[in-house]
Amino acid sequence: MLNSTNKENCDKYRPEKEYTNIEVLLDNLPYIFMGIIGAAINLIIFKISFLGIGLSFLYIAYTILGAIWIMIFVCPYCQYFDTSFCPCGYGKISSRFKEKHPETMFSKKFKKHIPFIVPLWIIPLLEGGVYLFLDYNLTLLILVIAFVINSYIILPLLARIYGCGHCPQKDDCPWMFQMKPSINNP
Ligand code: SF4
Repeated sequence: MLNSTNKENCDKYRPEKEYTNIEVLLDNLPYIFMGIIGAAINLIIFKISFLGIGLSFLYIAYTILGAIWIMIFVCPYCQYFDTSFCPCGYGKISSRFKEKHPETMFSKKFKKHIPFIVPLWIIPLLEGGVYLFLDYNLTLLILVIAFVINSYIILPLLARIYGCGHCPQKDDCPWMFQMKPSINNP
């Protein structure tokens, strides 16, 4: 259950609440789009070749693995583990195959495991930038812009406002610590 002490001090945008399945799906959409656009960038770069299709599948597999990685190594330490207060639903899924672990370890586990998913944000942008420079293509440019808007603006903004903004552990979270000025001064 949630810690009421943390709730009192929570400078959240939205009140803490249990999320419906539709809201969970909406919260996951930018991450899903990131996988789709990242895969499409590979397809366009390699002109829908065997290599392009293979790399697209690899990128999608990495996005799925990234989500599972967080569910295995981070969510069991979260206060929202096995509750409907987790905005993206990972906490519920995680509880199906993991036991609850001490919440005091959350920050340490977050710092340790979040780097595993960071390349998801970097790889398509790097590939797209290099190939735009080498062999300009309007479709690729549109995809790279869409990737940047979705993954670097919409996804983190949604996470901060809709998800992490009212997480009771945000004071221990390295990600939210960096965002603190923008949360306190929206
Ligand atoms: S709020 Fe984040 S860390 Fe906590 S259970 Fe949900 S996805 Fe996992």
